[in-house]
Amino acid sequence: MQNSRGRRRAAGPASTPRVVEVITAERPRDLHRDARRRRGPLRQITEFAAASGIGQKAGIALAATGLVLTVTVPATSPVMATDATGGSPVAASSVTPQPQVSAEAGAQIDFSRSAVVTQADPDGKLKQLLSAQSAGAISRAASAGSLGAPLAVMTTASPFGYRVSPITGGNGDFHRGQDYVAQCGTSVMAAATGTVTFVGWHQFGGGNRVVIDHGNGLETTYNHLSSFSVKEGQTVSRGDVVALSGTTGASTGCHLHFEVQVNGEVVDPTGWL
Ligand SMILES: [Zn+2]
Repeated sequence: MQNSRGRRRAAGPASTPRVVEVITAERPRDLHRDARRRRGPLRQITEFAAASGIGQKAGIALAATGLVLTVTVPATSPVMATDATGGSPVAASSVTPQPQVSAEAGAQIDFSRSAVVTQADPDGKLKQLLSAQSAGAISRAASAGSLGAPLAVMTTASPFGYRVSPITGGNGDFHRGQDYVAQCGTSVMAAATGTVTFVGWHQFGGGNRVVIDHGNGLETTYNHLSSFSVKEGQTVSRGDVVALSGTTGASTGCHLHFEVQVNGEVVDPTGWL
């Protein structure tokens, strides 16, 4: 096939196995849209902000208003600075005249929640995101890196989104998740702490499927599995093995179909990994 510039169009990555599957939504979208709209004041604020042209970032800022951590500042010690010769620290005021800034002992300073991150907790970023707003209000830039990888080795076999159908060859096939290369029997891990809400057969192509609810409208699903390692209702931690990969359901080869759902609608998983 030739494109308009006369170059040969690549037929696709040759190094990744071609696996195909068709997974369809199990429910019409519009039924849940109304329910989502009624969710809560924060979402309404952000939707209002988006609709009125303030933009998503402003919406998030609005949503975060009031979620502040109050810190009490103890009686202060002098601000120190190092002088240019590399000598011992000297009082900042002796280097450059500083505007008079003072805080009385016991003064309160408000930090926004985003300034406080618990680095030791692998779920820290996700908890912080979801505690401040519903998942639907979170931008891709903010969510990136908040979920853990469901496989030890992550090699994309087929990306999320519209694609040429691997079965019919037609355009407009919507791929609801991200496919990753995984030999059958590979450990599949929880992307974050959550509660297992479904373990069983997905009638719409996913085959053996696990769904984990991470709260605030965020869910992940794991599909085409060969076996399960968890039960419904079980609490799992990030990195816990929840299943072994397989090729059950509408699948032509071993791989993991991984989905991220926000308020019941699939989103691009790469925006969260
Ligand atoms: Zn898939």
